[in-house]
Amino acid sequence: MPWRCPICGTENRDDALTCRVCGAYKPEATTKRMGQPPREEVSGVVVIEVLESPVEPLVGKKFEFRVNSPGTIITVGRSVENQVVVPDPLVSRRHLRLIVTQNGIVVEDLGSSNGTYLLTEGGERLVKVENVGKSAVLRIGRTKLRIVA
Ligand SMILES: [Zn+2]
Repeated sequence: MPWRCPICGTENRDDALTCRVCGAYKPEATTKRMGQPPREEVSGVVVIEVLESPVEPLVGKKFEFRVNSPGTIITVGRSVENQVVVPDPLVSRRHLRLIVTQNGIVVEDLGSSNGTYLLTEGGERLVKVENVGKSAVLRIGRTKLRIVA
């Protein structure tokens, strides 16, 4: 039986011991328990603010998403099908996605050409899949985004 990750809501294969997106362990105990597990509640707003962009009118723009269920996914990239469209030539068409969980925002790079970087006190570092907590600043191409849950 495929199993649903309790952290990010992703469906995983039966033989996977950890979630392919956020790395959480397969919940062995909870699947055997009788009755319904308590429903994970996530509610609120996620704001994505453009701090820097090669397209000047975008600087300061805020994207707001209402989040009502665990595992809400926000896609970011250069093509128009994304929820956050970033018109930067160094950003991939499907660059990354954000998975909003009860325990923070999981940033997942979708195999972008130039990578997703998390800004830290000492500089920045590459992110593949990582829970960045309630807020973070990401750099993709020449664009910087602040994410606040
Ligand atoms: Zn997961």
